[in-house]
Amino acid sequence: MKVILGGLAQPATSLANNTGTWRNFRPVYLQKACIDCKMCTIVCPEGCVYRVSEKKFTFNANYCKGCGMCAEECPVDDIEMIMEEK
Ligand code: SF4
Ligand code: SF4
Repeated sequence: MKVILGGLAQPATSLANNTGTWRNFRPVYLQKACIDCKMCTIVCPEGCVYRVSEKKFTFNANYCKGCGMCAEECPVDDIEMIMEEK
């Protein structure tokens, strides 16, 4: 039997996975109490939260899977999760 070792076939393949289609909830960045801590960008497993300007963050809907980590970890509750309309 031939043993094939595991590994990535190509780099940067995560960009091809449109995880936004998995989403049942979406984050809403209230942009009212943000203290610019950037925790939401750090904890997002898809790396899809980005800073628009000082104390303003948003997410890329193509890759957000609605896990709620950003809202859970925001220290000032400036992110709400709402049901996605399908
Ligand atoms: S985690 Fe909350 S307070 Fe921190 S940057 Fe993100 S939205 Fe702002
Ligand atoms: S809900 Fe999850 S995937 Fe979507 S932006 Fe927040 S942390 Fe990222």
